[in-house]
Amino acid sequence: MFSKNEIDKLIHLIHNSNRIIICSHRSPDGDAIGSILAIYNFITLNFPDKVVFPILPDRCPEYLTFLPNSDKFLNPDEHIEIINQAFNTADIIIAVDFNESNRLGALENLFFISKAHKIFIDHHPFTNDTNYELLFHDENASAASELVYYVLKAIGFESFNYDIVLPIYVGIITDTGSLSFNCNLPQTYSVLSEIIKYNIDAKNIHNLIYNNFPVERMKLFAHVLYNKLVINVDKKYSYYSLTKEELEEFGYRDGYLEGVVNYALNIRGIEVTAAFVELNNVVKISFRSKNNINVNEIAKTYFNGGGHKNAAGANYNKSINDAIELFVEVIESI
Ligand code: 5GP
Ligand code: MN
Repeated sequence: MFSKNEIDKLIHLIHNSNRIIICSHRSPDGDAIGSILAIYNFITLNFPDKVVFPILPDRCPEYLTFLPNSDKFLNPDEHIEIINQAFNTADIIIAVDFNESNRLGALENLFFISKAHKIFIDHHPFTNDTNYELLFHDENASAASELVYYVLKAIGFESFNYDIVLPIYVGIITDTGSLSFNCNLPQTYSVLSEIIKYNIDAKNIHNLIYNNFPVERMKLFAHVLYNKLVINVDKKYSYYSLTKEELEEFGYRDGYLEGVVNYALNIRGIEVTAAFVELNNVVKISFRSKNNINVNEIAKTYFNGGGHKNAAGANYNKSINDAIELFVEVIESI
């Protein structure tokens, strides 16, 4: 998958480093968390003399805290001093599941000015704005976690264990909607067939991720679908929005809305949908589409965001109503 030259260079960089940051994007999902933890667990097992910092702009969502070493994550709200120091002194930074520095939120500047060698492992359409040393990129990969598998396997397959393959499994399963999209290529199943041999209990993992909602999270889901979903059957779109106050009312925690936007697309005849959520003083937007509507282009062109053809997002700086108005205008003009 990747050249021997690139892998040798990576091994050389790891050998010659003492301090390694592994980081990913804000509002981290199963792929971001899985990619980081697979690499973290791999390096701490195989290179025990290295100091490794798994860093995220936001907290690890509660539904992924069953993953081994998820308690090691550092975030700027709780650990800003150690994060500052880590970025100032790191020898290498391994950036996973994103390739534009603005996806790093509060970490963007630290990342940008850090003198560490930067290594990207990503499956998004390539729009990198950063100087990097190495790039492991394939837009066709089901998840960044799948690419992490190829990279780690090339470094040393013998030294895999359950704690390394489990996060990769979770990354692939969550980023493909439990193998329902981005999963048409045989190699994804080859990876799964290799890692399932490590005694992964698929049913149990599914239950931990999807059948384990706190009551408040389920009530927030219900509120969105019953009270907040706006559906325009004629123009084939739907959307929902949530204000800061509503999130507070439902006891919102990071990750509670993961997956809700997909339900808005389950409706027959609906081709495109969006979610607008007031979070951390911006409007976090998620776009989803079926078939040929390219929401990555819409996110990029109108909202300064990005993503994939059928799943994209943005962080919008104007009001939530402005965001909705713009979305409706753009979709109705297509
Ligand atoms: P989600 O809606 O699940 O947060 O994100 C869907 C997809 O869009 C993911 O692939 C994610 O990486 C991408 N995405 C979400 N927010 C942003 C953003 O602000 N900028 C860019 N470039 N991509 C985003
Ligand atoms: Mn991903």
